Amino acid sequence: MGSVKALRCRECRQDYEPSLKYICDECLGPLDVTYDYGSMRVNRGTFADRDKSYWRYLELLPIEDKGNIVSLEAGFTPLHRADRLGEALGLKHLYLKNDSVNPTFSFKDRPAGVAVSKAKEMRLRAVGCASTGNLASATAAHAAKADLPCYIFAPRDIEYAKIAQALAYGAEFIAVDGTYDDANRIAAQISDAKPIGIVNVNLRPYYVEGSKTLAYEVVEQLNWNVPDHLIVPVASGAMLNAICRGLEELYELNLVDSIENARVTAAQAKGCSPVVEAFKNKRDEIVPVEYPNTIAKSLAIGDPGDGIYALRRLRQFNGYAEDPDDDEIRDAILLLARTEGIFTEPAGGVAVAALKRLVEDGRIGKDEYVVCYITGNGLKSIDAIEGILKRPIIVKPNYKDVVSIITM
Ligand SMILES: *Cc1c(COP(=O)(O)O)cnc(C)c1O
Ligand SMILES: [Zn+2]
Repeated sequence: MGSVKALRCRECRQDYEPSLKYICDECLGPLDVTYDYGSMRVNRGTFADRDKSYWRYLELLPIEDKGNIVSLEAGFTPLHRADRLGEALGLKHLYLKNDSVNPTFSFKDRPAGVAVSKAKEMRLRAVGCASTGNLASATAAHAAKADLPCYIFAPRDIEYAKIAQALAYGAEFIAVDGTYDDANRIAAQISDAKPIGIVNVNLRPYYVEGSKTLAYEVVEQLNWNVPDHLIVPVASGAMLNAICRGLEELYELNLVDSIENARVTAAQAKGCSPVVEAFKNKRDEIVPVEYPNTIAKSLAIGDPGDGIYALRRLRQFNGYAEDPDDDEIRDAILLLARTEGIFTEPAGGVAVAALKRLVEDGRIGKDEYVVCYITGNGLKSIDAIEGILKRPIIVKPNYKDVVSIITM
């Protein structure tokens, strides 16, 4: 423990003492946690017998004292071999990282758990977040476990299931009559004015660390092999950037021999795809989407904080970017459910639909080892697919009426 060295500016490399600081004084760049890798004694065996949660990678997470960990046992989710979906798409080695089965039913338990633990370590007396839906519940649940009050700032038009879930954990839910970018701006202003740890604002350097475990776990679950291609849904871009950094750390620590052949691809929904647009048009800047419009509400960030970094990662890791529309997303949700028995929310549909495009036009070969991140659970957004589901068959409670329906 205690291998955190500093907070370092991602742009100008200036170092700062670890604190609630998240923006560089010199250049306004974002700050990242840096570690003393040289003093880290880890090898593949280090992790073998540990807890089946993402806290198994403790050395690579920014918590100094184990006693401050606030854990709901999130992470170490199944790496699901998807033979039937693979066959449907034309892939021999397809795996799904099934983060829909985390304690609050999305991958956000990873960054939120780390950030709330850091809030506890810093003795903060309240936490909160700006959310497109899933971070609300992840933060609220960990806050409940830590016995901290929790303030959520989210657009009012997100799925009610996500609002209800966060309220059930006891959070104060501030539904902003505007976009995610409005909610995020207000959360940032609150974090400047009050001693609250906003997990994705002033705790962001710690928050993003949690998502690196999405890379560690996949590689460990593949017996320390690096996949050929990773498909990642993108909103702020933080997760994609963290997965790439996780791969770099595995290489830095000699846990894998090479990451050179791993491609990383971004998936966004057509109704809000600023990163994909920039990539496809070979631009270096992100043009914000003012009014996102897609069923993939958890990905609806018009002005993504880590957008340019996600863009740079796509280039560094020789990946692609695709933006399926809402019909493709709905079809992909049902295809996944009906081939693999995994029910995802639209974000997972976005990833599967993007993968489908890449296989169809030959950008992914059938023999490649592909990992697709399924980041959230379908029960959180049933409205998104209601219109394309068959109606249930309503019957009188007698055998004769029912048996005639069963055609086999
Ligand atoms: C937040 C979220 C994402 C995207 O994460 P970012 O780090 O903001 O890019 C993907 N999938 C789901 C289900 C999410 O809730
Ligand atoms: Zn700087």
